[in-house]
Parts: sequence; structure tokens; C-alpha cells
Amino acid sequence: MLNNAQTTQSAEWPAGVIARYLTVGGATADVLDKTAPWRTGFGHTLSTACTGELCDWTRYGTEFWFDADEDPWGHDGYRSVVRRLQDYAQAHAEKCRALPRPGVGA
Ligand SMILES: [Zn+2]
Repeated sequence: MLNNAQTTQSAEWPAGVIARYLTVGGATADVLDKTAPWRTGFGHTLSTACTGELCDWTRYGTEFWFDADEDPWGHDGYRSVVRRLQDYAQAHAEKCRALPRPGVGA
């Protein structure tokens, strides 16, 4: 069993988080892919969010729809939107000083 100090930064990511950037304030700027059932597959809504308390930074990406047997990562459009959101998250992480609220496991 690892001690707490070792596990704090490696706690499991919340559902939908596909990339995280540690902000200078100690929160995270996340790239999110929220999925929801849609007809024969799933809708994927890409966006970003910051876990710094009251930080309202967000970027909305694009919605994609894939059949259940399709791999989103095999789709150029999906990958390029993810890459763009990664750049935004990286840029935000470099300057955001909002602290995460203590005790909230994000
Ligand atoms: Zn922020």
C-alpha cells in the first residue's frame, strides 16, 4: 500500500478526462470527452475545464458521433480537435493560479 503523499497526484482521473495539465496553482486543466449514447453509437463532446476553484475558464470543442464499433482515435477530425484543446489546456495551465478546493477529489 502506497502512502498518501505518493497517491495524491496519481488518484484516478474522473470519467471523461482524456488529458490533464497541472496548473501553476496546483489544479488541473483537463481535456474532456463526454460521451452519451446516440442512435447506434455514442456522441462525443470535446471540451476543456479547469479544476481551480471558481476558475470559469473553459473551451468548447466539437461534437462527434461515432458508431459503437468505431474508434474515435481513428478519426482525423476528432484527433485534431483533441490536439487543439490540449494546446489550450497547456496554455491555461501555465498561467492559472486558482487553487483547487481542499478535500475535493478531482
Ligand atoms: Zn484555471
